[in-house]
Amino acid sequence: MGNDISAETLAVQIGHFTDAQNGAIVPPVAPSTTFARDAEGKLPAGLRYSRYGNPTVILAEQTLAKLEGGKEARLFASGLAACAAILGTIRAGQHILAPRIMYHGAQDLMRRIAAAHGAELGFFDAADPNGLRAGLRANTAMVWIESPINPTWDVIDIAAAAEAAHAAGAILVIDSSVAPPVTTRPLALGADIVFHSASKYLNGHSDVMAGVLVTNALDARWQDVIETRNLTGGVLGAFEAWLLIRGLRTLFLRFARSSANALAIARHFERHPMVEAVLYPGLESHPGHAVAKRQMTNGFGGMLSIKVRGGFDEAQLVWRSLRVFLSAASLGGVESLAEHRAAVESPNSVVPRNLLRLSAGIESADDLIADLAQALDRLGASRPKA
Ligand SMILES: *Cc1c(COP(=O)(O)O)cnc(C)c1O
Repeated sequence: MGNDISAETLAVQIGHFTDAQNGAIVPPVAPSTTFARDAEGKLPAGLRYSRYGNPTVILAEQTLAKLEGGKEARLFASGLAACAAILGTIRAGQHILAPRIMYHGAQDLMRRIAAAHGAELGFFDAADPNGLRAGLRANTAMVWIESPINPTWDVIDIAAAAEAAHAAGAILVIDSSVAPPVTTRPLALGADIVFHSASKYLNGHSDVMAGVLVTNALDARWQDVIETRNLTGGVLGAFEAWLLIRGLRTLFLRFARSSANALAIARHFERHPMVEAVLYPGLESHPGHAVAKRQMTNGFGGMLSIKVRGGFDEAQLVWRSLRVFLSAASLGGVESLAEHRAAVESPNSVVPRNLLRLSAGIESADDLIADLAQALDRLGASRPKA
């Protein structure tokens, strides 16, 4: 971000007048896979082939690097392709430390890469404030965190995690998919690499798969990440990059509305008789609220979970009764989604059986609250009166 322009304005004005010849406000898509040399054999913009770099993708990367306050960013064809590139820098004998409950796809990938590389993998309990520190070992090379953590929304103190990781000689990588740079900028808090599934809030319209890594340091590890992308070829297409740029223009607006809706839902159902607990860092009752308030400076996000009174079957009943919330995977889009995580995660899932994960979109909060209320009423009506 420049000194004279806010991140909010920067996001809205991405690439204005990139096409100076025509005065176009919106930047063009550059689908070309190859770039011609001039009469002296030089590449006019240093680009030679789109697997190594593409103008539309680079515009999106430069914007994301600025929004995160990082040195450079690289986009990938999905979030997990980006995860694979950074996890791939782990060497035999090194140890990765990650939360026991986290985005399950990234954890499955971590197990696979650790096994393939002869690395060790350890897990800590994110609900325990000393869990991370206690999990560090002499050979820990990478600490991986998420905050808030999917789908319990436990909060990890990013600055404290960075300090602990660095003291142990490890780098801190953070999956910040649910806390975009609207509200949290982990590099400023000491993280070394920020990862986002850009398929979520950054794009925000459930119509692009993309992942991004943003770095604080242009070191050997970053060179390895770039080489991995160049050679394994998991690059983002120019059209997807263009859609992502369009999505980013409304990131701040969308995130503010989703955060407001999630807070309204959380407050409304916190003491509902059919609800055992509402998990949302924006609630004063949440154990991570104080830390969240410090590191989420512009909204607590649209993600929350509701533990339904009862078990698996009761959660199923409520989930199946929802009409405005769509029953679908993913998060961070304009439409509200609900998932019964225990029903979709692998059999070794440790997520509470009665937990419904909600992604609050940008619809009317009243409609979302009414939908959840009628679904919970069905559960109430199905129970014998005490
Ligand atoms: C979706 C998601 C991912 C994976 O990203 P894809 O774009 O689906 O590959 C990783 N972490 C979190 C927190 C996510 O929500």
